[in-house]
Amino acid sequence: MVIVIRGDAPQAEVEQIKEKLIKEHGIEIHESRGHNFHLLGIVGDTTTIDPHKIQAIRIVEKLIIVQEPYKKANRSFHPKDTVIDVLGQKVGGDTFSVIAGPCSIESRDDFVSVSEKIKASGGHFLRGGAFKPRTSPYSFQGLGDEGIEILKEAREVTGLPIVSELMSIDKIDTFVENVDIIQIGARNMQNFNLLKEVGKTDKPVLLKRGLSATIEEFLMSAEYIMSEGNENVILCERGIRTFETMTRNTLDISAVPVIKKHSHLPVIIDPSHAAGEWWLVEPLAKAAMAVGADGIMIEVHNDPQNAMSDGQQSIKPKRFDDLMKTLKGMASLVDKKI
Ligand code: PEP
Ligand code: MN
Repeated sequence: MVIVIRGDAPQAEVEQIKEKLIKEHGIEIHESRGHNFHLLGIVGDTTTIDPHKIQAIRIVEKLIIVQEPYKKANRSFHPKDTVIDVLGQKVGGDTFSVIAGPCSIESRDDFVSVSEKIKASGGHFLRGGAFKPRTSPYSFQGLGDEGIEILKEAREVTGLPIVSELMSIDKIDTFVENVDIIQIGARNMQNFNLLKEVGKTDKPVLLKRGLSATIEEFLMSAEYIMSEGNENVILCERGIRTFETMTRNTLDISAVPVIKKHSHLPVIIDPSHAAGEWWLVEPLAKAAMAVGADGIMIEVHNDPQNAMSDGQQSIKPKRFDDLMKTLKGMASLVDKKI
């Protein structure tokens, strides 16, 4: 962090700022002054310094932030890739993980049947929403607790770990007890109380990028979870809102290498919610593998035309099977195991 001081600032005021910063934040300050500049270089842990407060000081011309505000999620504090173990199934490192299943759990028979097909095609995790964040309050809201029971049954039948979205703190104990990865949806990416609560558990968390969140905001949300002690965070790029209307969202494919440059956390892509169209899922899934993602999360449904949510972007089990074959063929090119 570098503070640029105004040329006409009285030195007594500069001294006051320096003293306060050293006392409150335990940092070191290197002051340099030339004909045309006066700089205070802050060295040490600057995470507790609020940049807005510095910018509000009248003798401050501007503030240059050198270090990223996230610490636990930052690759410079943890150079090696994080690999998360979920019931013996790895996420991150040289593994490409495939999470698949319908948008919502609709009935026991349908869910178990599609889960068996996903397992047969080589999927690694089952997904299914029991509590659904729907835009309309009149749309199907999910089966709730009954859905969690169905998920557990599918795990028993297939042996695959289960992923489901937690929407509110009051259900956290149920999720910790019953699911293997807690999903935090795009709409809750900045529900900071929810993030802190999942941060107090030791369950792996799949954190989806908010609809209009920058990558830095996304990493700060991961930081919320990690700052409470839970470092098992998987990041999921699921498309962001742009001016484009031909797709449901715009898949920010560059988010994967950008996040990997700045963070050690595994990053996966959800091509289904990015695309919003079933025929776009396969090319985006291939792009995910090519760009270096650690996996994908895909909506698969036995009968998309009659799905209770997101049928338009769900692929059928046969297409999923073909996609898995394609991804298996591509994996060695990107040094991944699938
Ligand atoms: C989902 O994965 O079911 C979902 C609702 O996704 P998102 O939070 O990314 O919209
Ligand atoms: Mn969905």
